[in-house]
Amino acid sequence: MSHGSHLVAGRLEAAAGSCGEGPQSVEEPDQLALLHLRIALRAPACPVCQLAREAATRYLQYLLREHVNHLDARIRISESQGFCPQHAWELFYLEVALCYGPLGNSIIYEDLVGQIARALQNADGGPGRAAEPGFWQRCWSVLRRRSIGEPQRRPGLALTPRRECRACESHRQASEFFAVNLVRMLADPEYQAMYVASDGICLPHLRLALQLADSEAGRLHLIASTRARLVVLRANLGEFKRKQAWQYRHESPTEEEQTATRRAVAVFAGPDVTDDSRQPAKSETHPPAG
Ligand SMILES: [Zn+2]
Ligand SMILES: [Zn+2]
Repeated sequence: MSHGSHLVAGRLEAAAGSCGEGPQSVEEPDQLALLHLRIALRAPACPVCQLAREAATRYLQYLLREHVNHLDARIRISESQGFCPQHAWELFYLEVALCYGPLGNSIIYEDLVGQIARALQNADGGPGRAAEPGFWQRCWSVLRRRSIGEPQRRPGLALTPRRECRACESHRQASEFFAVNLVRMLADPEYQAMYVASDGICLPHLRLALQLADSEAGRLHLIASTRARLVVLRANLGEFKRKQAWQYRHESPTEEEQTATRRAVAVFAGPDVTDDSRQPAKSETHPPAG
């Protein structure tokens, strides 16, 4: 992990710890957050979505490069019984793209598959004892009481993750950190102009930013600028719809009207992640037959 990544991760963790404790007395934006937000505001789509997604990806890269064999990391992954679907596949394709093969994933999933098999065996209570435990399984048995507790006898409980996906946790902490700092920076007129010229934040992060805001000036600007943006977007949507009618077919939609529907989806759902760059990596794992 690079020094910069350590710095970001440290700031994120420190900030995440303070976000849930209500308004802070200091309303100045964190300088590292400011740097990242200034860059993200120049790119298309919600800046908080971009930075939170980068934080989750940074965790997955860190896991693959330095942490796969660390016991604490593996315990944390087992507590969430792996990752959410999005981050599970991101981790897989990340390793396929970065390395020669999914060795780190195979190590992680060897644990996880064994964990679920044991949970089912404990729930069943029938014959078919597990094979001789390996090194990690023996570590598990030592640490189980500390991290997981006694084996569950009811499969519904045993198969229920005890914590959220670790990459989602990084995403959530980064979202809180950057949402708070975005509001703080919007108290500055220079950054207000930068925000108005950007694509703005998505609705989920607008909710989060307003919930966590500790800068009244920033909060008011966020509300006013978002409302103004939505008024224009609604007008663009209306014009696009009108120009689809037969009697107005000679009127071509403007670029803003052509892109209005996509931008409206992005307001509610954040950036489009259905068309990402994993396809080349995916093809490497599924070579054409013959
Ligand atoms: Zn967002
Ligand atoms: Zn996740």
